[in-house]
Amino acid sequence: MEIIHISAECYPVAKAGGLGDVVGALPKYQAKAGHYAKVVMPMYETKFLHNNEFVEDFKGTIYLGNWQLPYTIIKEKNNILGFDLYLVDIKGLLDRTGIYNYDDDTERFMAFQIAIMDWMNHWEHFPDVVHCHDHHTALIPFMMQHCVAYRNKWSRTASVLTIHNAQYQGWMSWNKSHYIPNYDSWKKGLLEWNNLINPLACGIKCAWKVTTVSHSYMKELSWNSNGLEQLFEYEKGKCSGILNGIDTEVWNPQTDGFLNSHYNTKSVVVGKQRTKEELCEKFNLDVHQPLIVFIGRLVGEKAADILPDVFLNCLNGLKEKVCFLILGSGDKQIEWQLQEMNNKYKKYYHAQIGYDEALSHTMYAGADFLLMPSRVEPCGLNQMYAMRYGTIPMVRSTGGLQDTVIDMGEENGYGLRFSHATVEDVFNAVKRAVTVFEDIKKILEMRRLMMNIDNSWENAVENYIHLYNTITYNE
Ligand code: ADP
Repeated sequence: MEIIHISAECYPVAKAGGLGDVVGALPKYQAKAGHYAKVVMPMYETKFLHNNEFVEDFKGTIYLGNWQLPYTIIKEKNNILGFDLYLVDIKGLLDRTGIYNYDDDTERFMAFQIAIMDWMNHWEHFPDVVHCHDHHTALIPFMMQHCVAYRNKWSRTASVLTIHNAQYQGWMSWNKSHYIPNYDSWKKGLLEWNNLINPLACGIKCAWKVTTVSHSYMKELSWNSNGLEQLFEYEKGKCSGILNGIDTEVWNPQTDGFLNSHYNTKSVVVGKQRTKEELCEKFNLDVHQPLIVFIGRLVGEKAADILPDVFLNCLNGLKEKVCFLILGSGDKQIEWQLQEMNNKYKKYYHAQIGYDEALSHTMYAGADFLLMPSRVEPCGLNQMYAMRYGTIPMVRSTGGLQDTVIDMGEENGYGLRFSHATVEDVFNAVKRAVTVFEDIKKILEMRRLMMNIDNSWENAVENYIHLYNTITYNE
């Protein structure tokens, strides 16, 4: 089967969060399973671009309204990712160092999608499935079916939209509707949700199948999806949850290129201890106390706003019995609050503001516990990485966290679960962590259980192929 994945992120080319990890891994494991998977993404100014070889594949010109934009498709030459990677180069729009958060993101991702449609229109063959990821690519199913220039060729090709995060929907006002290539005017309603052009809503309406990244999140979307609740309820017949896997080649404590001390289930005690010592020395933390880490975007979804109070309460209430190490970036106020505390709680607290892939791996390996109090967590990869590295997840029972972590109080449990994203609930979870840290036997048993869990991509790949088969003629 031939699948083309279209995404704004793909690890290791460019990653801001879980979307990048998934789009870097799913096609690779689809290819390993004998399918032809390729990825198309924007050409940002990244290290990956400059450190690898590319060949020109296609050159064309598109219009964004009446703005004429030349574009080039380049292809990575040596298949080093395990799948064909194509980058869309649109000078002045996509060729920037960052992925998101520019004032003209609407124009950038609209041009990206139009360039892909224009390029695909020149193909002489058809992939079996066009698989779009999140709102940045969610207008493609609409364009395939309803834009005059593309529909004759593409309306019979299956499209899938995977929602990695429904909080962000790509809203744009109707005064930008002229960006969208000419479409039948009576299809206007497909673009709209609550008086705005809503690319994610449009993708949900137009894609042949819609998936999200865990079963619990799929259910949650019908009552909590940032305004799309009714739409999910209405479209539930074509929606399903497929739990993400993790790339066990990238995330393997035995081979991880970012670690100085490697380990497996047998050498986990020594390997983790050495890495913990390394971290504690680097950030001046007390190595004898349980080390709880937080890694992630500092935004409301992750409940990052309660973190300063959580840490203050714990550092005061559980004096010198617990250490925290934080890695993240996002809301400037939260960044400032977290950093402010660095000087006040030396030896027991450190916040590192920024994005640091290498440090994140060392933290998954060196920590005793990983905290995720998320309000919304579609799948969550951090807890799965932590588990693979023998680090006990402390998670709020929501979305994918609920589907992947069993509380240590239950049979074969290995994690700490709590119900609410509140200072009180997290404080109680930290108290539990401090207590269980004394029980070496229990810690070792939980590490063994977690590290043996199979969260690899093979299961998810099978589920996706099964889903594609329901909408193509390949069965
Ligand atoms: P989301 O996609 O909502 O941010 P996920 O749990 O699905 O959350 O994926 C987060 C990914 O991003 C993980 O690989 C995590 O290690 C990584 N990550 C998040 N913030 C940082 C950071 N500041 N530095 C390094 N890696 C980070």
